[in-house]
Amino acid sequence: MVRITSTAVDAKHDVLVIGAGCAGMRAAIEAHDAGADVAIVSKLHPTRSHSGAAEGGINAALGNASEDDPETHAYDTVKGSDYLGDQDAIEILCNEAPGDVYQLENWGAVFSRTEDGRIAQRPFGAAGAPRTAYAADITGHVLIQVLYEQLVKRDIRVYEEFFGWRLVVDDDRCQGVIAWDLLNGGLKSIGAKATILATGGAGRLYVGTTNAWSCTGDAMTMALRAGVPLKDMEMMQFHPTTLSPTGVLITEGCRGEGAYLLNSEGKRFLERYAPNAMELASRDVISRAEQTEIDEGRGIEGNVLLDLRHLGAEKILERLPGTRELSMVFAGIDPIREPIPVRPGAHYHMGGVDTDVWGATSLEGLYAAGEVACVSVHGANRLGGNALMETITYGKRAGRHAADYALTNTTVALPPSQLADAERDLKALLDRTDGERPWRIRDELATTMHENFGVFRREEQMQRQGEIVDGLAERYERVVVEDKGEVFNSDLTQALELGFMLELAACMVVCGIARKESRGAHARPHDYPERDDENFLKHTIVTWEEGAPSLDWRAVTMTKWQPKERTY
Ligand SMILES: Cc1cc2nc3c(=O)[nH]c(=O)nc-3n(C[C@H](O)[C@H](O)[C@H](O)COP(=O)(O)OP(=O)(O)OC[C@H]3O[C@@H](n4cnc5c(N)ncnc54)[C@H](O)[C@@H]3O)c2cc1C
Repeated sequence: MVRITSTAVDAKHDVLVIGAGCAGMRAAIEAHDAGADVAIVSKLHPTRSHSGAAEGGINAALGNASEDDPETHAYDTVKGSDYLGDQDAIEILCNEAPGDVYQLENWGAVFSRTEDGRIAQRPFGAAGAPRTAYAADITGHVLIQVLYEQLVKRDIRVYEEFFGWRLVVDDDRCQGVIAWDLLNGGLKSIGAKATILATGGAGRLYVGTTNAWSCTGDAMTMALRAGVPLKDMEMMQFHPTTLSPTGVLITEGCRGEGAYLLNSEGKRFLERYAPNAMELASRDVISRAEQTEIDEGRGIEGNVLLDLRHLGAEKILERLPGTRELSMVFAGIDPIREPIPVRPGAHYHMGGVDTDVWGATSLEGLYAAGEVACVSVHGANRLGGNALMETITYGKRAGRHAADYALTNTTVALPPSQLADAERDLKALLDRTDGERPWRIRDELATTMHENFGVFRREEQMQRQGEIVDGLAERYERVVVEDKGEVFNSDLTQALELGFMLELAACMVVCGIARKESRGAHARPHDYPERDDENFLKHTIVTWEEGAPSLDWRAVTMTKWQPKERTY
């Protein structure tokens, strides 16, 4: 029999943030500065969070490269979202973005510079002006270091290498989390008056992805299990330039700097699909174009080519050094001399925990920010550079609101029965000695999601995927965790992550089948090739009822912009 040591951590906090990427750290800093006692729970050391992998940059209408303003930024974002983004949330993002970027600069973020010393900005897909501020092609790395310095400066407590598993809900309020202590073993319950979810995306639902192994959508499912709805879960973005064969991201900054996409005939094939925007069309458009070229036999071993050679060595070395290094290390290709083989890969989840414009969810005391959340500023298709901005602006807003809430609510209860239930369930999993290893199910889930719920979606494939996910969920009930130890038991945490992902996959498929149109990342060229504003200009809202997803819809919030046909 396996022993589990369960303890309530003595400390109870005003605000507890689960996740230490850009969103989590920005939220914690804001809550601290608003006077709250704040702590963070993270399954990784903060600077290992996947935000650190962000390359190309962060969008704010600073107007340093050409004329620009928040309203143009908002319009581009609304249009890019294929009109599914909530326009009030988008306007807030674009209005607050410039101040939030200067705040990062004041904290020490070393952005690349123009000749006259201002923050440099590069063009990104579907943006009406060069709007993406950047630090060469390691923007996320720079931001995450700066935010971590600010955490340390404020002495904010981090429960490092704690795996958040269940939310504590009592008296119809979220009052903290039950987490597995990865280093020492054992379950710990940590109390908080307000809890902010910031656990990032779920790209690992797919076999070909730019996302790290840790991006398993954990708190989307934690929220779902606590009765909180998820929004627009069918909207998984495929990025058009992921390196073959690993799936490592090749930044959109390459196309911003002028790189070409070529097919096997050496043609810039975007002439056929987006003759105006060409390589700077939005991601959904380029991913579909690439997949069509590959499917119609004009690819090269399942890829197309990203050609940087004409940019010259000097520009590549100055602006895109990380891209060159990634290509050389992971594909043995020096982009100064050879084009890079790329293909679409799962990249960013536009859907997530349903929140209002302060990050508040439908459960009192529970907030969400960053990629785990859906406020929704990206709608059906995110513009490059807007995700980092969302982590900062909406991280800040969630932190502020959570602090205000916490400072006017005084009690925290951690009912021992909830810890006892968690302990019993975990023990049952660890005591099992016979069964299937979780990695097999995880691999099957990722492969089949890629095949049946990828760039293009067909009704019969989505139906089949629904059945596959149900079958995998049944097998999951009998998985065996072979490592019975308490210290760094990644066998156990990967099993728990698989449980999270299976529920998310079921939600995605249900929403995808119900959305009988093509909009943004949800492309159904075979049965519903057009966008259908009359019937589907609305969000999918999904909850978990009696072991299965239950679907509802909600109107999109419009302020200024009525839907128009997209031109490319
Ligand atoms: C390769 C790549 C490049 C990108 N480039 C750009 C770009 O140039 N510009 C842009 O705007 N966007 C970019 N994006 C998107 C953007 O970087 C992400 O959406 C954003 O950084 C996510 O930040 P986050 O704080 O929400 O989550 P993350 O940074 O992923 O942080 C998640 C945190 O949650 C913690 N966590 C997760 N699960 C648990 C759990 N169960 N218990 C405890 N802790 C947990 C992790 O330890 C981590 O600290 C890129 C994405 C990728 C994958």
